[in-house]
Amino acid sequence: MTMHYLDANATEPLRPEARAAMLVALDIVGNPSSVHAAGRAARRIMEDAREALAIRFGGQPADLVFTSGGTEADALAVHALGQGRRVLIGATEHDAIRSAAPNAEIVPVGANGLIDLAALATMLESGPPALVCLMLANNEVGTIQPVAEAAALCRLHGALLHVDAVQGAGRLSVGMAGAHSMALSSHKLGGPTGVGALLLAPEVTGIAPLIRGGGQERGRRGGTPPLAAIAGFAAAALACGDSSPLAALREAAERAAVGCGAQVVGADAPRLPNTACLALPGARADTQVIALDLDGIAVSAGAACSSGKVAASHVLQAMGLSALAGQAIRVSLPWNATQADVDAFASGYARMADRLRSPLVSRAA
Ligand code: PLP
Repeated sequence: MTMHYLDANATEPLRPEARAAMLVALDIVGNPSSVHAAGRAARRIMEDAREALAIRFGGQPADLVFTSGGTEADALAVHALGQGRRVLIGATEHDAIRSAAPNAEIVPVGANGLIDLAALATMLESGPPALVCLMLANNEVGTIQPVAEAAALCRLHGALLHVDAVQGAGRLSVGMAGAHSMALSSHKLGGPTGVGALLLAPEVTGIAPLIRGGGQERGRRGGTPPLAAIAGFAAAALACGDSSPLAALREAAERAAVGCGAQVVGADAPRLPNTACLALPGARADTQVIALDLDGIAVSAGAACSSGKVAASHVLQAMGLSALAGQAIRVSLPWNATQADVDAFASGYARMADRLRSPLVSRAA
């Protein structure tokens, strides 16, 4: 059976450019911290990657700190920028932020998933200086947040803004947009797992590390850097092109699902071109995922990061859609998605919806 992988927001397929760069870097024996020629060769690869990534995402090479992934980049931002500040986070943030800031004050979102900027302004007006954490694009629904507007508000009130750009980077045109820090993750843009970065605004200096170790990354993150993964990360970021053509495929998938009775969650807000959150009233999300999987179609229920755990989505709950929160699946098209993937999804979804609906119909009859 052909597998149709439509779970890119969990992890993107490796881009060939990333694989090629990693194969080259795997043959470099040196540690980038060593002073000898082998070490210098490794350092050159790492610094070239740092420069490419920083420029790609609108920052300076000296301000980019390599981490083990998006989760660590978010945790480092909250740890370093949150010192002495209260923390405000959007209601639909990823668990990487929620668990790094367990006592955070929650900024509400509207029914379309967009942050309530008026509420944010009111919260910023009262109380001590804040660190605000806002995701660029939501991992479950794809909602694109008004980051530049939030950054302007934060600066007006002396607050810092950390942007979790893990799902937006590589799919949208991404820059710092006035933010003080930005989290990136390699495997969400077609690079390998195990590496990410925190990109800081030039004015953010002297940050306290989470991991001290041997003082690597200018004392901001200890540990020998994973050279091949870093090379693959940069190559993948450079290979990301215009992802807007994915929107046509995504819309075709949505039309097929809506024809079977599904609702598209968050459809009236700007969204990532590859992401559709589809609620099928009356059908459990995990049952839908299993039914589609048996048909060779890989999608997820809620946040796939939460390995195997299928809980009602806090994102949909925050959007006031509690009734649908356990009934929505996420379809996220990878960079190499094809019409054949969407055709397979459309017929698989129709079969699944028929099968899940028939017991309800016969019970009602
Ligand atoms: N932030 C968002 C919005 C995510 O979707 C994810 C993972 O799904 C992360 C952070 C964590 O990134 P990583 O898997 O690189 O640790």
